[in-house]
Amino acid sequence: MMKELGYYNGQWGPLETMTVPMNDRAGYFGDGIYEAALAHNGVIFALDDHLRRLWRSADKLRIELRWTQDEMRDILYDMLSKVEPGDTLVYWQVTRGTALRNHAFPNGVPANLWITLKPITLGDPRHRLRLITVEDTRFLHCDIKTLNLIPNVMAAQLAAEAGCDESVFHRGEVVTECAHSNISILKDGRFITHPTDNYILPGITRARLLDACAEVGIPTEERTFTLAELMDADEVIVSSTTKGGVLAGEIDGQAVGGRAEAVFARLQAAYTARYERETAK
Ligand code: PLP
Repeated sequence: MMKELGYYNGQWGPLETMTVPMNDRAGYFGDGIYEAALAHNGVIFALDDHLRRLWRSADKLRIELRWTQDEMRDILYDMLSKVEPGDTLVYWQVTRGTALRNHAFPNGVPANLWITLKPITLGDPRHRLRLITVEDTRFLHCDIKTLNLIPNVMAAQLAAEAGCDESVFHRGEVVTECAHSNISILKDGRFITHPTDNYILPGITRARLLDACAEVGIPTEERTFTLAELMDADEVIVSSTTKGGVLAGEIDGQAVGGRAEAVFARLQAAYTARYERETAK
């Protein structure tokens, strides 16, 4: 049983011993797409959703996936069986292939599959996050889950340097998402979240929270909201695979939310119940 596993095109081993070819296009161009999911009780949560999103990203970037979704699922589960049980972060990426550096696609080169598995300790879902705001200077294809994450990296570093958990991106007055999460608000009993257009990643947790809202009768609005609405929200909800849906308590040093804890508690309970049900042994 390994603790941290790395996989590359059929080869696997302890993550720190794995190497990849220098000409993998991930290194030159970040020419690839990825997914990250959570395994609990040996079950990869929402895996079908993650596979569907990976196929969508591949389609948008014209990366040819040489596996069926079933084959990819089998490889992921095969690798998962080789690591120690417990909550695991299942990360995988597909790159356009291996070839001498040249911007245009190489001919007849198969895509490469990378997988890393590592244990993860989930955060306390009651812990309120501290956020900062950062101008969203990313490109206009944020719906594609590509490896090109430099603005997200820079924003995450600013949050870390500020002693905070996440950065909230905004384009002018409009809040888009966070460096590695989606962001939504509760206002007057309604759950408001940016529509899934090209400005945000269509988060799987975000979608699950919308489902949970329907389940517990919280009305939803998929529309943009402003920084002013964010600061004045009854609650601010940050969501991602590893966090689930959690509340923020502070943005740029100002207290936010704290006015709809009971509504959020219903939402979080519904989300968690689905998570536990779908990852039951
Ligand atoms: N937005 C960005 C930019 C992300 O990188 C992520 C995930 O890491 C999310 C949103 C949340 O997506 P998901 O809920 O599918 O993890």
